Amino acid sequence: MCRMAKSEQSGLVVLVGAGPGSAALITTAGANWLSKADVIVYDRLADQTLLRLAREEAERIYLGKAPAEGGLTQEQINALLIDRCCTGQLVVRLKGGDPFLFGRGGEEAEALAKADCEFRIVPGVTAAAAAAYAGIPLTDRRWASTVALVTGREDPTKDESTIAWDALAKIDTLVFYMGVGSLPAIADHLLAAGRSGRTPAAIIENAATPRQRTIVATLGTLAVEAKAADIRPPALIIVGKVVALRQQLAWLEKLPLFGQTMLVTHSPPQVSRLSEMLTELGAEVIEAAAIQIEPPEDFRRLDAALSRLNTYDWLVLTSPNGAERLLARMESLGLDARTFAGVKIAAVGPATAEVLRRKLLTPDLLPEQFTTQALGEALSSAEDLRGKQILLARADIATPKLADMLRQAEAAVEEVTAYRITRPTALPEVAVEALAGERVGWITFASSSGVENFLALIGPHKIDLSNVKLAAIGPVTAETLQKAGLTPAVVADPHTIDALVKAIAIFER
Ligand code: SAH
Repeated sequence: MCRMAKSEQSGLVVLVGAGPGSAALITTAGANWLSKADVIVYDRLADQTLLRLAREEAERIYLGKAPAEGGLTQEQINALLIDRCCTGQLVVRLKGGDPFLFGRGGEEAEALAKADCEFRIVPGVTAAAAAAYAGIPLTDRRWASTVALVTGREDPTKDESTIAWDALAKIDTLVFYMGVGSLPAIADHLLAAGRSGRTPAAIIENAATPRQRTIVATLGTLAVEAKAADIRPPALIIVGKVVALRQQLAWLEKLPLFGQTMLVTHSPPQVSRLSEMLTELGAEVIEAAAIQIEPPEDFRRLDAALSRLNTYDWLVLTSPNGAERLLARMESLGLDARTFAGVKIAAVGPATAEVLRRKLLTPDLLPEQFTTQALGEALSSAEDLRGKQILLARADIATPKLADMLRQAEAAVEEVTAYRITRPTALPEVAVEALAGERVGWITFASSSGVENFLALIGPHKIDLSNVKLAAIGPVTAETLQKAGLTPAVVADPHTIDALVKAIAIFER
């Protein structure tokens, strides 16, 4: 098989540990391989947002759930990896946690070795890291010098437990993987081997995700408590005195947005920054862009204006998207930074200014309030605009207000469409499900068109928003909500993403 093809083109399989829960826990080496892969083979334990790191054209193969539920068997997975390797592809086999800890990574590597397929192994953060998220140090000089990692589910083909429970009972800290179903049996084995029923014990469900839950009890009571709380896999069990340290060291649950599900309706590039900030505060973020940014239908007017950019006195930009699209178009026209020589730039707010600064362009004017109204006022009071040539590059659906203001100041205003704002055909299914299931605590809006599109998109789903808190980036967005009969819980001031996040955190404190 593969050996013959090898002389022509041989592939490579990389077993990559994805870490548990959060996509942020992959290693840099793992992320690197992922970004280069031709094929990614993954299963349910690897955080699927990791797939965004892959090239768009990379093939993504989901292995489904357990074999019993229609997924592939281990033999089929091995065969798949070998097959792809033999066709010369770079295969990333993404595995939850670390590939060599209870992940059958050893078996996969062995199959590859036997088939003469070249492979690499990138370690990962193992699920025992749940301990860090729960505030339970696995070792502590006072309480624990030894740790054992144990599977709660042995190979079902084995007749008897091969776990040396007597020896295990003497280890200070015990960590059980895959132990939800067998928790009562685990406790019985340890008690029978002499471990005290009063030993502190914890179970951590969905560690390193915003849905993390931790139950603390004792070895004698954990099974009952976990059942009462309906703890489900994936969950990790920790037994030992160190569990008691959680009382002081728990931190995740104290984050201001912990346990909150937030729907973010913004468009890229703001969406990722906002998601990141909310996630850092403990929230679960669902990205549900209600607006899409698209190129203008016709570039002629924009191109004509850009080709004589140096004849304008002012270039006025009213959004980060506008700035981004304008600069990208200039680049594709082969224009460079010198085109801006002598042109003053006005930006509506810090996010727009930031896009410009990245290209070494510092705006000459930023209003004190980050609205187009304030921008118009600041421009007219900055200088006498009579006869001044102003290029206003903006969205297709922008209101004529700003242009009108500038014309009133007797400026010669040229309005060009730098991008179009369109409505996506639907919101992502996860977003609709979370809304319908009343799991959404907050929805954030960054523009009036975002509000309008969002309401239009949820219209057919008949969703009740009366218990959802709404956050608006500024007064114009807030007004659009109010017109629809909705009252925002917070309005950011200043009208920036940072202030929006701060306002939400203060509201929740
Ligand atoms: N190779 C993986 C383990 C795979 S076995 C690793 O190194 O982590 C699957 C078990 O890992 C689950 O049954 C559970 O015990 C644990 N696990 C994985 N992800 C987890 C998570 N987010 N929270 C708690 N436990 C998790």
